[in-house]
Amino acid sequence: MLVELITIGDELLLGFTIDTNSVFLGRELAALGVEIHRRTTVGDDHAAIAGAVRESLNRADGVITTGGLGPTSDDVTMPAVAGALELELERNDGVVARLEEIWRSRGRAEPLPPANLSQAMLPRGARILANNHGTAPGIFAEREDRRWVAVLPGVPREMKEMFNESVRDLIRARAPQGSVVASWAVRTTGVPESRLPAMLGELADGVDGLSLAYLPGLDGVDLRLTATGLQVGEAGEKLRVAARKLSSRLEPYAYAEGTTDLADVVLTLLRRAGQRVAIAESCTGGMLGERLTAVAGSSDVFAGGVIAYDDEVKIELLGVDREDLQRHGAVSEQVVTAMATAARRRFGVDVGIGITGIAGPGGGSAEKPVGTVWIAVATPDELVPRQLRLFGNREEVRRRATQAALDLVRRSLAG
Ligand code: ATP
Ligand code: MG
Repeated sequence: MLVELITIGDELLLGFTIDTNSVFLGRELAALGVEIHRRTTVGDDHAAIAGAVRESLNRADGVITTGGLGPTSDDVTMPAVAGALELELERNDGVVARLEEIWRSRGRAEPLPPANLSQAMLPRGARILANNHGTAPGIFAEREDRRWVAVLPGVPREMKEMFNESVRDLIRARAPQGSVVASWAVRTTGVPESRLPAMLGELADGVDGLSLAYLPGLDGVDLRLTATGLQVGEAGEKLRVAARKLSSRLEPYAYAEGTTDLADVVLTLLRRAGQRVAIAESCTGGMLGERLTAVAGSSDVFAGGVIAYDDEVKIELLGVDREDLQRHGAVSEQVVTAMATAARRRFGVDVGIGITGIAGPGGGSAEKPVGTVWIAVATPDELVPRQLRLFGNREEVRRRATQAALDLVRRSLAG
C-alpha cells in the first residue's frame, strides 16, 4: 500500500513550526509495513490543499493530511478536502452538540461563536474521527475506488491521539498483511563513535541480518538496529535479541535500550539500592535537576539541589572553602568535591553530585579552556571526581556535562 502525507500550514513553510507530525507518521506507517512514498507541505490555502490532495490521490492508495482544522478563517482544510473528493459539506449535529458541551465545560456563558460551527461542517458520508484532546474532529473518507483520505488535526498531541485511537486500525484493515520496518536502539555514552566498530567486531556492520546505524548526539551514540522485510512479531523479537548482543559487547558504555533517558536509568539504580540523591550545580544551572525531575516518580529518590552559580552561594549554602575557591578557582577538583559532599550532607541523602565548569564562550584560559568541567559523585563509600574536556558551544557543553555527571553516578552504583 502506497501512502502520501500532506502537512498543512503557513507556519510550516515559514519555518516557525518544525514538521514533527511527518516524523511521527513516517515511523508509525513504517511499523505497519505501509510505504510513504511522498511527502508534501502546503500553506493554508484552499486551492493549494485541494490540488495537493487530488494529485496525491492519483498516485497513492491513501492520503493523510494534518493541520488546518481550527475554527479560524485560515483553517480551510476540510472544505478543500471535500472539494478534492467532490463531496458536499454538511453540518453534523453530533459534532455541534459536542462543541457546545466543550464550550460550556470551559466555563463560557455566551453561546458558541459561529466560527466554531465551521468545525462541524464535514464532508457527507465520511467517517468522523473523535478528537479527545481538542475541538476539531478528523475524518476518514473512502472513495468508490477504495482510495482514502484521512484528515487529522495539526496539534501534535491531538494528531497522535487520533492516529492511535482510530486511524492506525483503519489503515491496517486496508493494508495487505505485509512486512514491516521496525527499529530498536542501544544507547551508549562516554565512548566516541570511532571506537565502537572495534568493540563490536563482526557485529559492527549488522546483527543477524538487521542493519545497524550509528547515531551520535549530545548524550552519546545510539546504535539503531533496523529490521526490514519481517512480520511484526518476528521483527520485535529479533531486534531485542540483537540489542542484547550489542549491549554485552559495549560494556560499560551501554546504559539503556529504546529511548530511555540516562536519568531514568540512574533513578532506577538508586531506587533499587534504596538510596536517595541530591545535587549541587554551577555551570549546568539546573539542567541536571531538570533531567531527574522529568522522570515521573522521581520524588522518592531525588531530594533536591542547589544552583550554586556565584562563588558566594557556593560558600554560604554549600560551605565551600573560600581559600580553596581563591587558590584553585571555582572550576577545580577541590571545589567540585566540596559541592558533591555538601549536597549529600545538607540534604541528608546517600549520594551527592557536583558539577562546575566553564561553558563558554568567554571565561576560558590557557590552563582551563572553555569546556573544562569538573564533576564529582559522593556516596557512602567513595568520593569520585572527574575532569572533563568537552567540546561544543555553551548549550552543548552544559548538556554533555549533565550527561557525564549522570553517567558517573551510574557507574559508581553499578560498581
Ligand atoms: P487548531 O484548532 O489549533 O487551529 P489545526 O488542526 O487547525 O488546530 P493548525 O492550525 O494547522 O492545526 O496547527 C495548530 C498547531 O499545531 C500549530 O500552532 C502548530 O504549532 C502545530 N502544528 C501544525 N502542524 C504541525 C506539524 N506538521 N508538525 C508539528 N506541529 C504542527
Ligand atoms: Mg489552526
